[in-house]
Amino acid sequence: MKCHYCEQGETRVVDTRERQEKIKRRRECKNCGKRFTTYETVESIDTKVEKQGGDIEKFDEDKIRSGLKKAVQKTPVTSEDIEKIIEKVKSQIKQKEKVSSKQIGEIVKKELRSRNKVAYIRFASVYDSFDDVEMFQKEVEALKE
Ligand SMILES: [Zn+2]
Repeated sequence: MKCHYCEQGETRVVDTRERQEKIKRRRECKNCGKRFTTYETVESIDTKVEKQGGDIEKFDEDKIRSGLKKAVQKTPVTSEDIEKIIEKVKSQIKQKEKVSSKQIGEIVKKELRSRNKVAYIRFASVYDSFDDVEMFQKEVEALKE
């Protein structure tokens, strides 16, 4: 890893601390001697995600988290709920080699739906699993009943 300050020196790790799933490393530049801290997330899931266009990417829980955060704004769904939903997704996909982004979306939607319908609709409308507007309308109508 390059130094954040001079952008050339190699760094050495002077301290490492593990807190829950985050690893905090204190680094020192061999060139300018300045120190800075980096955070790493433990990558425990190797599942690949196939997107609708067919692209394959690594499972990224931060993506789900940011989507969820937007969806739950001004609803009673808490960040604790968000973490629970993410844990649920991870527990359901971690044994699999590959899942589709749609499958992940379905898990998240199911969880959101049981918690808060506004958050559910918001998430569903930005998530790519509604194939067209008509289908989305039907979902909205179904919630009114
Ligand atoms: Zn440096």
